[in-house]
Amino acid sequence: MSKIHHDKCPVCGSKNFSLFIESNDFSTSHEDYNIYKCTECSFAFTQDIPNQENIGNYYKSDNYVSHSNTKKGLMFKVYHMVRNYMLKSKQRTVENNTGIKNGKILDIGTGTGFFSNQMQKVGWDVSAIEQDKDAREFAKKEFNLNVLPPSDFYNIKDKSFDVVSMWHVLEHVHDLDGYLKTINKIISDNGYFIAAVPNYTSYDAKHYKKYWAAYDLPIHLWHFSPSSIKLLIEKHGFKLITKEGMPFDSFYVSMLSEKYKNSSLSFIRGAFFGFISWAKSLSNTDNYSSVIYIFKKDN
Ligand SMILES: [Zn+2]
Repeated sequence: MSKIHHDKCPVCGSKNFSLFIESNDFSTSHEDYNIYKCTECSFAFTQDIPNQENIGNYYKSDNYVSHSNTKKGLMFKVYHMVRNYMLKSKQRTVENNTGIKNGKILDIGTGTGFFSNQMQKVGWDVSAIEQDKDAREFAKKEFNLNVLPPSDFYNIKDKSFDVVSMWHVLEHVHDLDGYLKTINKIISDNGYFIAAVPNYTSYDAKHYKKYWAAYDLPIHLWHFSPSSIKLLIEKHGFKLITKEGMPFDSFYVSMLSEKYKNSSLSFIRGAFFGFISWAKSLSNTDNYSSVIYIFKKDN
């Protein structure tokens, strides 16, 4: 199987990078993967990644759709309770930071469409992109959403949207520059780009090291620090306006990381370290396990 080898930093082009994390795919293939970090801009990336054709094999696709709607086990129960809260919280993040209501939004990587549905319910004109065919069909059937496959993304008309959102999606995208270029093009003047990504400079990332669940190798191709994502997105014609933390991710990621470590009492240990991580983030958004970045179009 052909893999993609990076010989320069995908963000700043530097050839100075060093081995950062040696780990593996804990959830699906159990193959070894290494993360390298650029010494110039702190951007980190998974090395020798499966190409776009093969990456699908690394997603746990079995019952992907039905899982999201069953209440099995404590983790799933917590997840479902949190989900409703999160959907409203994401809506508030969009509306409060952009000042826009009832606008036009494109959600890239919408999955089964819960966030898109939330926005549609409160009056937004919503379009969405989703790669997984089953998830697309679920979103269309369940929520009557306009969900397109990724192949349609590059053909969207210029300045079609007030807001483009990517919730934990940018780290999965092979064509990073192509996507960001297109996103800039399809956002209207003075429009916004909102991206939530894991933060490897968080307390929980530093605590769990190679077991940190949000490295999620190899399907997370890129690993962002608050400074490297700013550099990358601003290079593509945006200006960082503000950042927000995602408090629940500290807990969820810590619990999953404990599971990867095969810890006993992984739920309780995860909750404990998740709490510490969350508490350490209160004074500084840059410490959150996941950070939401709000960019405004600047060209
Ligand atoms: Zn770099």
